[in-house]
Order: sequence, then C-alpha cells, then structure tokens
Amino acid sequence: MVSVTVHGGAGEIGGNKILVEDGAHRVFLDFGMSFGRMGDFYEDFLQPRTNSGLRDLLALGILPKIDGIYRQDLLEFDGLEETLAELGVADDSLWAADVKSYEEIRGRDGSPAVDGVIVSHAHMDHFQHVSMLDERMPVFCSETTKAVIETAEELSADRFGTDVINVKRRSIAKLGKSAFFPDTPKVETECVPRPVNAVCAGKAFAVGMMEAELHPVDHSVPGATAIVLRTGEERIVYTGDLRFHGLAGHLTHQFRDALAGSRPDILIAEGTRIEKDTPDSEAGVLEECTQLVSQAGPGLAMVAFAWKDTTRYRTMIEVARETGRTLVVSAKLAYLLHRLSSLPDAPVRPACDEPNVKVYLKRKGSMLYSMNDYVGSKYDLGYSAEWDKKDCSTIHTEHYECGVRAYDIAADPGRYLLHLDFYELNELIDLRPPPGSVYVSAVSEPFNMEMELDRDRLQRWLQRFGVNPPDFEPIYAHASGHASGPELIEMVKAINPKVLIPVHTEHPELFVEALDGSGIEVRIPTLGEPIILG
Ligand SMILES: [Zn+2]
Repeated sequence: MVSVTVHGGAGEIGGNKILVEDGAHRVFLDFGMSFGRMGDFYEDFLQPRTNSGLRDLLALGILPKIDGIYRQDLLEFDGLEETLAELGVADDSLWAADVKSYEEIRGRDGSPAVDGVIVSHAHMDHFQHVSMLDERMPVFCSETTKAVIETAEELSADRFGTDVINVKRRSIAKLGKSAFFPDTPKVETECVPRPVNAVCAGKAFAVGMMEAELHPVDHSVPGATAIVLRTGEERIVYTGDLRFHGLAGHLTHQFRDALAGSRPDILIAEGTRIEKDTPDSEAGVLEECTQLVSQAGPGLAMVAFAWKDTTRYRTMIEVARETGRTLVVSAKLAYLLHRLSSLPDAPVRPACDEPNVKVYLKRKGSMLYSMNDYVGSKYDLGYSAEWDKKDCSTIHTEHYECGVRAYDIAADPGRYLLHLDFYELNELIDLRPPPGSVYVSAVSEPFNMEMELDRDRLQRWLQRFGVNPPDFEPIYAHASGHASGPELIEMVKAINPKVLIPVHTEHPELFVEALDGSGIEVRIPTLGEPIILG
C-alpha cells in the first residue's frame, strides 16, 4: 500500500518535501527550504544558531520531525556527554533532540530509513534542506541540476545550511595552548563530500526497491525535471515546477504527451499559478524589454534578472542585439555559464562565445582594481574558479583583461545593457548614469512585505540617480517559471491520474472545482498527514 506525505509544499508555494512510502521503502521527492516558514521566524539578522544544529529548525516546525534522515552532527556532537561532564553541566536538556539520526535508525543490514531523495530542480525551495540530511542518504537529480547546485554553493556566503555538496561536519575539539582558555571545548568543522548521483533523463534508475525516471521540463532554471516513480504496483508522477511558455516549452509538452492517457495512480502537481487565467510569455518579455531599453537612447540601460535564469539571459542577449547594445553580465552568471557549457548536453554557451556579451568587473576589497582584491572568489577575475598556485596555466584572468569596468560604461553608456541586480545597486555610484537612463526589473513583482520594502529601496536608488522618469514605477517585465491555471488543468486531464495531489500552491481547492466530474479524485494535502492510496 502506497502513501504520500507532504512535509512541505502543502498549501504553500515552495519548501517541497514529499515522502512516498511503500511498506518499508521510502523515497523523498525534493527536500527544499520553505521561504514562508523561515520568514515567519527569521530575517537577515535573526538566523538559526549555527552550532545549535537542527534543534532550532525542529523547534520552530521549519523542518519535520522524522526519525532516521538527519545528520548525526546536527543532532548531537560526538563526545557530547563526556564534554558536558567535564564542564560540570549536569542538565543536558539543552542539547537533547527529539528525533533520531540516520545512524540510529539504520537497520541491521545497513538499510536506511529513507532510500533516497530525488531533487526535481535547483531552486532553493526544492533542494536547500538536503544539507540537513545524512550524507549517506543517496541523492539523485539531473546532471545540469547537480552543476547548478554545486555552482550556487561555491558562490554562496558560508552560512549554516548552505552545505549541500560539501558537508561541513561539526565535532567537538579542544582549543590550543595559545588560546585564552587552553584545552576548553570548541566546535570545528571538517569537509565531507556528499555524493550526488547525476542521472540521465529517460533512463530508469533504482532508489532502494523503487524505480524512477526523470523527464526534462521547462522552468526558470536549467536542468528542471518531472519525476516518474514506480513502487511495487503503483505509478506516481511528480511535476516539480514547470511551464509551457519558456524557450524550452517543448520539453514540458513532451513530458505531458509522454504521460498522456497513462492514468498513473497518483499525480503530484504544482499549482503556483492555478488562479491565473492567462499564460505568461517569454517572447512578451523580449518585446517589452526591447521597447523599454530602446527608450534609453544615449543613456545607460540596466536590467535585473535572476542569475540562475539562463532563459532570461538568452532573452537579454536578444534585447541587446535588437537595440544595438552589448550585454554586460555579472561574473557570477559568467561562471555559471562556464560550468554549464562544459556538460555533455550543454544548455548554454559560455559568455565568451557570444559576440555581444561582456563581463562586468566590479570594484571590491581595496577598491583599486588590484588583482589581489579578487583571489577570494576567483570567478570575479576569469571564467574559472579552479585555481592552482603551483600551476600558473590554471589561473584565469579574462575578466580582468577584457571585462568592462564602471568607468568604461560611464564613458560610453549608450553602448551597453548592464545586468545589475538589486544587491548590486552600489554600482550606480560608480556608473553615474546620464539622464534618460533606464532600469528594468525582469524579475517577479513583489508579493510580500519584504519585497515591497526592497521595491521602495530600489525606487529611491533610481530617483537618486535620475534613472527612469520621475513618476515612473520601477518597471517589471517578467514571465513566470510556472504554467497558468488552464494549462495546468489541461495537463492534469491529459495525464488523467486516478488521484491528484496539488502542491506548491496557496489555492489547492481550485483544482477540486476545475476537475469536478473528470473522474480524477483530488486529495488536498495537510502538512505531515499521510494520504493513503485506496
Ligand atoms: Zn522552481
């Protein structure tokens, strides 16, 4: 008998953690971070305590209390009992966790409590909390998804919970002789790689006793897939996040057509935009941005878009071409393109192969454009971050030599379309955009209070530098990563599952209305409550 328990993504957008169980066999579909639940308790300067491990997230209900899946070091440090005794701490309740680790639950034959996690795509709300899982639990995803996750980790600030691939295992050690209090305990970290299995689309692979298959779909990050899972007798299909209107919309059509009429036992479908009647259009973004950028005349044109969104990047190459400008991208995006272009089925070309794309070299460190300012991140200086001190041939400095700097842009602003995200707005001080300059936000419009505050900040920056006309709202030109309501319902009817479980939506009830009389039973998930088939 199969059951599906939604531990994240029930009545909320994101944080998907979906447990499929067939007797003793268990597989997670995604293990993402819930931005909503994190935001309920935390913000920039109020964050989970690094060395409190999972205790904080479990206490707040941000992570589900499930035995046998989490890292031992995040539940209890090795040698904790002896250390507390040595320190004279009699009450250990502050260190107690009320879930059992992976190690504690492993069967006599070494079998884990959960056979593996299949990650649908490289958005944080689908993969980030894999960092909390024991690194021996097998993880599966597409090769591109693996590369994007690796890149995101390399480029991210070293914060608690960002260690998906290079697990920072914590343990108790003793301070050295030079410390104020020698021989007292401290926590140190050791890097342990988490093996992630990159699997080819369309090829069946085993996760414990279950069989799975990935189907590429179009979404706002490269490498996104839907997942088909076969248990003993049942077939379960999970859409991940998808859309039909992106540059690779044909992939989502192929997925739907491959499954059409197959009547799987369960379809777990995303419903982010179920309440929206009209499909978005990436071609519309191209048209709108071209029109807006052409208004900049001899001024500078700037555009914000998510650095993982390679579709939007390709749209911006077109905008630059149509308006006779050179697209200048961030070094972060250039590094992602470099990584992805080396994959066998490369979804993109490196920036250096595009005739009208250049890379921006920003000032940092000493603010003098000194080579040394960049060695900490390496990708800032060239296309690769793989540097070896002993082998000079591995050192890449292309951006330093041929990149575009703020003073190059200020000297000839009408020549450029600059990729400038919200978090890079300090660059405006160096760019000194002339009157008539334009800034377009090719990202989604604010949908919560925090984003509205950021929009107000953006407006103040633009007003300060005379960018966009005075009565002008920051311009949002965006096509979502998600299909519209009619497209989703049409897909569900075509696949025609026995049971539909809507996830990743605030309006799962709209599926019930739309599928009334279709012969498809809609089961709306409640967080942590199993939906048992039959
Ligand atoms: Zn997504």
